[in-house]
Amino acid sequence: MATARLGDGTILTYSPGFKPGDPEPKGYLDWHDWAEVQHKAGLRQTQCPSCSRWQYPQGMSTREVAYEAATSRGQKIRVSSFMCLACAEKAGPPEGAVNGR
Ligand SMILES: [Zn+2]
Repeated sequence: MATARLGDGTILTYSPGFKPGDPEPKGYLDWHDWAEVQHKAGLRQTQCPSCSRWQYPQGMSTREVAYEAATSRGQKIRVSSFMCLACAEKAGPPEGAVNGR
């Protein structure tokens, strides 16, 4: 929710009108308005395997990470999922990358 202060000191709050697929806003109240729009549009969050934070698809990179996990019966399995944009940026270019690709 965005706020604006009018000349007489009145504080006006309004929704900026988010659309599905818009990038994540900075403010706390804005984030909740934005997330509601994303969820109603059918977008779902996935967990980043690196930092464990949940992100909507627009917050995820195309960089895939493979790791070992265990099923509820203890069987070890190999899974892969995508990193969030922040972790992908921190990790630098992937191994074997040429000119950042
Ligand atoms: Zn992450």
